[in-house]
Order: sequence, then C-alpha cells, then structure tokens
Amino acid sequence: MSLSLRDKSLFRQQAFIGGLWLDADSGRNVPVYNPATGAELGQMPWMGAAETRRAIECAEQALVSWKKMLSKDRAAILRRWCNLILEHQEDLAQIMTAEQGKPLSESRSEISSSASYIEWFAEEAKRTYGETIPAGKKDQQLLTIRQPIGVVAAITPWNFPAQMIARKCSPALAAGCTVVIKPAPQTPYSALALAVLAQMAGLPDGVLNIVTGKAGEIGDEMTANPAVRKLSFTGSTVVGKVLMEKCALTVKQVSMELGGNAPFIVFDDANLDFAVRHVLASKFRNSGQTCVCANRIMVQSSVYDEFATKLTSAVREIKIGPGSNENTTLGPLIDDRAIDKVDGLVRDALSKGAKALIGGTPHNAGALFYAPTVLTGVTQNMQVFHKEIFGPVAPLYLFEKEEEAIDLANATRYGLAAYFFSRDVGRVWRVSEALEYGMVGANSGTLSSEATPFGGIKESGIGREGGKYGIQEFLEIKYINMGLE
Ligand code: ADP
Repeated sequence: MSLSLRDKSLFRQQAFIGGLWLDADSGRNVPVYNPATGAELGQMPWMGAAETRRAIECAEQALVSWKKMLSKDRAAILRRWCNLILEHQEDLAQIMTAEQGKPLSESRSEISSSASYIEWFAEEAKRTYGETIPAGKKDQQLLTIRQPIGVVAAITPWNFPAQMIARKCSPALAAGCTVVIKPAPQTPYSALALAVLAQMAGLPDGVLNIVTGKAGEIGDEMTANPAVRKLSFTGSTVVGKVLMEKCALTVKQVSMELGGNAPFIVFDDANLDFAVRHVLASKFRNSGQTCVCANRIMVQSSVYDEFATKLTSAVREIKIGPGSNENTTLGPLIDDRAIDKVDGLVRDALSKGAKALIGGTPHNAGALFYAPTVLTGVTQNMQVFHKEIFGPVAPLYLFEKEEEAIDLANATRYGLAAYFFSRDVGRVWRVSEALEYGMVGANSGTLSSEATPFGGIKESGIGREGGKYGIQEFLEIKYINMGLE
C-alpha cells in the first residue's frame, strides 16, 4: 500500500457482510488503481450473486431488531459514526484522493459534507411523524404512521465515493432500514473505510453491508431478490433505466439520481466576474465529473466575448496535477473511457467549427489528465450539446433573447440542475420558474447541501436526497382506521 495513513485499519481490501470482513467465495480479487499515476493501490474481492444473496439475508435478519430500536438510539449510533468520520477526516481524504483522483482539498470537503449528511439524518431519525385525519364518522379515528420500508439496496458511483454512501445510508438507517451497498469498482476503499467506522460506532452486525465485485451479477440479485424493498441508485441514466425495469418484476420502490445536462445561462445584466467565479466552481470541480456540473454555458450576445475572455484568464490559473499535491486544483479523469469520451466530444466540436481558447487536448501530466478547456462558437449540432461531458471542458453557446435561452436550456431529456446569472429580480423569478429542472442556482453555481432536496426530473431521476425529504424515501405510510365501539 502506497498510502501513509494514521490509522491503517481504515484501508480494507475485503468486503463487509454481516459484520465480517470477507473475501469472495472464489477467492478472486481484482486490482484498484490510482488514476493520477496508474499505480496499483490494492485489491478488492470479486464477488457475485451468492455473496450478495448472503448480504441481503444478513440485512433481513438485522432488520428485525434495528427497526424496533428507539429512534433516539439509532440517532446516537449515527451521531457517533459522524464524529468518527470527522476524527478520521484526513485519512479518509487521503484514501479518496488516491482512488478517485480529486484534489485533497475537495476530498476533505467531501468527507466533512458526508459527516454533515449523517449528522442531519441522525437528527431526522427522531422526526418521522405520522398524522391524525379528521374522520367523517363518529365511531372512527383515522391516522397514519410511518414505518421503515425494509431492506434497502444502494448502488453508488465513483465520482463522490463517500458522499453518495452517506446520502443514501444515513437516511435509510435513520428510518430503521438495513442496507446492502455496492460501491463503484474504481472506488471501493472509501466505502469500506466508512464501514470500519460504522462498526466502531456500534452499528449492529448486518445493518450495513458492502459487497464489491461484478456489477451485473450483484445488481441482478439486488433487483430480483424479493427481500429487497427499495433500490437507491446514483449513476448513468442508461444503467438507471435497466435497473428500474428489473425492479418492476418485484415492484420495488426506486430512487434514481441519474445524469444531467446542466445549462448555465449568463444574461447581459449579470455581474460577469461573479458568474465566472461560479462557473469555475460548477464546471471544474472534480475535473468536471459531477452530474450537476455546468454542461452548456449559454451567454447573451452582448457580453459573450467579454465573458469568454474573463473565463479563459481564470482557467489559465488552474493548477493541474495529482490530487495529492496540496496546490493542485484539477486532478485526472477516472479512467481511459472518460478521456476518450471527453476528447471525442471536443474533436467533434472543433471539426464542426468550434474554437478552443485554451486547452482542447489531453494534458501531459499523465495518461488520464485532460487540459482545462474553453470552447467558443459551440452550437446545437455538435454532440457536446446533447451529451454529459464529465470532463473539464466549458463550451460557450451564444443567445440573443431570454426566451431563446430558456428554450435552449430545456431542449434536453435531462432535468437535474440548472444555473443562471442575472441582476433583474423579475427575470430571476421568471427564469427560475421556466427552467424544467429539479434544482436551480439563481446567481449560484453550487447547490448541494444536507439541508436541501437534491434530485432531478425528466430522465434525470426520481426522488430526492437530503433535507426533510430524504428520509421519506425510506419510509412507508401506513393508514390505520380505528373503529370505536
Ligand atoms: P459511470 O459510467 O459513471 O461509471 P454507471 O451508471 O455505469 O456510471 O455506474 C454507476 C454504478 O452502477 C457503479 O457502481 C457501477 O458499477 C454500477 N453498475 C453499472 N452497470 C450495472 C448493472 N448492469 N447493474 C448494476 N449496477 C451497475
């Protein structure tokens, strides 16, 4: 192991099932690489359907007592988990940067935001209220109670290896559900380190399980097994649709956080320097590998050239390199496939008349680095308009009128996040209402927090994570009609 951790026990190369650290039945492991250097970081068990089935059985057994525990006792365990995560923030950040590539400063803030989600849902555990309903007859009392859905399966991506787990598991556990997680194969170690701390916090065996290995087989078992009552997925729209179809056979509930194609609209009355600062945060964080990254930057014609010049100067200041260097602000992409995709989109745009004001090619910092790029003259007939870039590429589109910008922004099957910049209060309200998106940043390029509902509409997903809404995804409403003698 190339990592120097204060607490070496956080780095686990085994899966976590029923409170035990286990290898695959077959004994087979696969390597996990550091995307900045290509060096092997370690191994992870290559598990499949049988191990997943056993993890689900463990979760089913653990559910019996976990759901009966007083919610304040569940909250206390979650709170301890949160505190342990904060105590081990530096080690967890080192693990994340090593396997995912993002700059250490971003890993540290992801760890603290993961802890914030857990803290929030520990508090929400105590507030799963039911209601009384005025009855239409004198001999009845009508009421509702909220009960945990049951065993939850969670499939998470590599771009936020800790936060996605915190965002799904803490509300599920707070609600009284038990969980089986399949982390992304690129980033298993952040997930496993969180499990070490959950065990240390006193989470009973089987309440949280992590299975690593073959995505298809694990996913098939999770979706087919009748004991699983809910699937919470974050990843691509393509895979989300397949999983929804599979869940239909046992009528499982689903929460889906899928792809996005975020517009970022700059109107001519915007504060351009402020908008540039926000587009940098929205576009280049995590090397552009987030589902809420600005994907289509639309700029009104009278400020287009000035905005492009300001953005290019700001992009020139970006420090590209391994995330483990303290001064790095842009790390590598996750794998070869990501580089090929980003480069293909840029080449397509350039071949159809776009211009690169900066970047436009892979970067010589390493095999998985792509130069931060600003493209001008981008139009709807280029692939980059329709695809989620997932890379550090800022394409600038030109528009004349407000209605045109809104039509352009909504001309996509996605509906996750949208941003716009304007100082006209009437326009701020009008555009906020007109954008067909689950989340809107009005003079803001960042959105996510534990206190607010994160989620999309259209083909960007179903359900909300965070805020007072997040825990409801893991609770069923039971209606009770009490007859009175
Ligand atoms: P990305 O292309 O960004 O990796 P994916 O949607 O492919 O996004 O991956 C998100 C998560 O879904 C990962 O944990 C991945 O292993 C998992 N996954 C991919 N394909 C399947 C599948 N067929 N069944 C279950 N999980 C899958």
